[in-house]
Amino acid sequence: MSRFRMYPTPAQQAALLEQCRHARYVWNLALEQWSMWTRDRGLTPGYVEQARQLTEARAAFGWLRAGSQTVQQQALRDFDQAIKNFYAGTHRRPTWRKAGLHEGFRIVGPQASRIVKLNRGWAAVNVPKVGRVRFRLSRAVPEAKSYRITRDRAGRWHLAFAAIPPPIPAPGTGEVVGVDRGVIVSAALSTGELVTCPGLSAREQERLKQLQRRLARCRRGSSRSHRVKAAIAKLHARAGDRRKDWVEKTSTDLARRFDVIRVEDLRVAQMTRRTKVKFDPGRPGAYLPNRRRAKAGLNRGILANGWGLLVQRLEHKAAGRVEKVNPAYTSQTCSVCGHCAPDNRESQAVFRCVACGHEANADVNAAVNIAAGRAVSARRATPPRVSPKREPQHATSA
Ligand SMILES: [Zn+2]
Repeated sequence: MSRFRMYPTPAQQAALLEQCRHARYVWNLALEQWSMWTRDRGLTPGYVEQARQLTEARAAFGWLRAGSQTVQQQALRDFDQAIKNFYAGTHRRPTWRKAGLHEGFRIVGPQASRIVKLNRGWAAVNVPKVGRVRFRLSRAVPEAKSYRITRDRAGRWHLAFAAIPPPIPAPGTGEVVGVDRGVIVSAALSTGELVTCPGLSAREQERLKQLQRRLARCRRGSSRSHRVKAAIAKLHARAGDRRKDWVEKTSTDLARRFDVIRVEDLRVAQMTRRTKVKFDPGRPGAYLPNRRRAKAGLNRGILANGWGLLVQRLEHKAAGRVEKVNPAYTSQTCSVCGHCAPDNRESQAVFRCVACGHEANADVNAAVNIAAGRAVSARRATPPRVSPKREPQHATSA
């Protein structure tokens, strides 16, 4: 994915938002139809039937007709793909699109290549029903079959092309690195390096708390609450940008320096899921504590450090050179003598082997174990069937 910052004029912004609204409306309708399925009522309409219904709806409603058919149809196709991904088990259930949160639409086909270079720093894309919108040429525009236009919560517009950049060639030194991902230190390498994903500074965190308190005192829907929300969104966007930047730099660096990169085979999606409700057997209708808040805090830490994203980007950049290792006991095992005991872990940060006395940073010790570990085979033996019309997908390594 290569992303460019877009600078639409105020009139264009209104037109783009209108398109986002249409795409969201169509998506949510499709989701509603799909979720109305019951055993006795038979099949819910598929893409072909929904596309036919869309044509009818466009004939009946002027406001829908005023929008681009490409955008609306593509929302249906995207939804269709989302359902296929859900049934294939690779993605979560499709969710409702919300105004202000999910603002975006996709253009596919010949229309996606209407790009004009204006000068060295700027280019323009011809968006259906909107016209030429300028974007910053921060890199070369890739050859792509489609693009997506989005507006983030901080009000910034982006243009993203689904193109796979060529993978980074291996250095050919035969060097293997193990990467241990943690919450306190974002990643520890078996070379002894500790790399931390930057988040918000202490001052920014203080300001975020202040703003959240202020928001709690605002009347809902008031213009003041909108202003405060926008300021909060800006801070979140800043943290997200820093995280993404860190992930890109770290993954490129690792792919350049090492032939084989071993990571823990952690299922982040499962780990970050909510905890199960525990019923109290003694009192009907009552619950036992399930440490939900504690897990939520950990979830935030995991997501904030972009664990899943780092491995995903590594697999793109060092295709076929990333190996997933079973993480069992990597944090309790001594990387020198192989003695495995829970007592080895003196504290969260310090590892001290009770057998040979080897002492190291706990995360680095785990990373060395990971570097030495055997790769577990990929969980999915046969890849899900892929339509030729589908956007290019990254090949994942074993
Ligand atoms: Zn030892």
